[in-house]
Amino acid sequence: MKVRRALVIGAGLSGATVARLLAENDVNVTVIDKRNTIGGNAYDKVDENGVTVQVYGPHIFHTNYKEVYDFLARFTEWVPYKHKVLASLKKKHEKKLVPVPFNLTSLFEMYPEKEAEAIKQILTEEIGYGKKVPILALKKHEDERVRKFADFVYKNIFYIYTLKQWGFAPEELGDEVMGRVPVYISEDDGYFTDTYQCMPKFGFTEMIKNMLNHPKIYLSLGKDANKMLYLSDNKIYFNGTEFDEPIIFTGCVDELFEYKYGVLPYRSLKFKFKTVNAKSFQPAAVVNYTVNKKYTRISEFTKFACPEKEKTVIVKEYPKTYKKDKNIPYYPIPRKENELLHKKYAEEAKNFPNLFLLGRLAEYKYVNMDVAVKNAMALLDKVLEEM
Ligand code: UDP
Repeated sequence: MKVRRALVIGAGLSGATVARLLAENDVNVTVIDKRNTIGGNAYDKVDENGVTVQVYGPHIFHTNYKEVYDFLARFTEWVPYKHKVLASLKKKHEKKLVPVPFNLTSLFEMYPEKEAEAIKQILTEEIGYGKKVPILALKKHEDERVRKFADFVYKNIFYIYTLKQWGFAPEELGDEVMGRVPVYISEDDGYFTDTYQCMPKFGFTEMIKNMLNHPKIYLSLGKDANKMLYLSDNKIYFNGTEFDEPIIFTGCVDELFEYKYGVLPYRSLKFKFKTVNAKSFQPAAVVNYTVNKKYTRISEFTKFACPEKEKTVIVKEYPKTYKKDKNIPYYPIPRKENELLHKKYAEEAKNFPNLFLLGRLAEYKYVNMDVAVKNAMALLDKVLEEM
């Protein structure tokens, strides 16, 4: 069957990508979002001082997928940007800022020189220069001296931050969480090592606006699609009429199915923004508070590839339990029991041949922006083939 029409629920990066690709394949697409803004949680705006502020927290683009970089480059100019993060720690009574991922520079900041030299030698011999190792693997290393070092890093970098961020210790989460920020046996102090590291010159909102700007895309903002959709007997009704063409859903899938198997847990955040009357607030774009404070990190937007202004803007992130209708779901919580619960909904979704789940919320996967785009690109083929 030739697809003529499609509904995309959610105007975030996943929704915008699939909508654009469908439109370019001659499909008329209606994109619905309950917010009055596009871009989902990547939404940003320029404030009165000219600073691009990311309203739902820091989003940084990085990828090894050339096809993702090239696709997005059709909708934005890129500005090269190497993201750097420091951890705020204590060495005895002295305050220290050390690079994260914890690397050889961090090692020399935290240990007396001779000891650091000895540890560096062990790490390079036992693991290898240039290698990245997730902290939980390092903690189980066969060499006791490596394990002792790993315990130090675990205690200072991961344990408290992770408890704050997720409400769980590192071991209680899926391995992919700690795998994101491995210990790096190198002096390279970049947060990422991807081939393409850049930010959209005029922000993510502008980029996504360009993606959605197509004669075959109709945008409907401020509308709650869950109130328009009705699912029954393998059929989906949209505003009371059966809709048998593709529906790509990027929202919370438990809500779509009226929580019939229970509420899926997500992690939420509270942001406290502040305009600071200074050109610079901190020495890196992000400082993580890995051993103290209630917030996890402070991000400074004028350091995110945005030219310095007279004033700067910072945001502190306070992790919160997600309460439906009360706050925003930001992260799926990668734990076995949650994935099993999500699977029930994903199975349920299969009863509806024209329903496709996509994105961090609907697929319940902790994906980065590039993977969100890549998955949306892959979904296009599936939608066109299966329908
Ligand atoms: N993490 C940590 N300490 C750090 C940085 C990261 O414990 O200094 C852990 C923490 O559990 C965090 C995860 O690694 O949630 C992933 O970090 P990332 O910076 O990728 O998180 P995101 O930017 O996606 O919130």
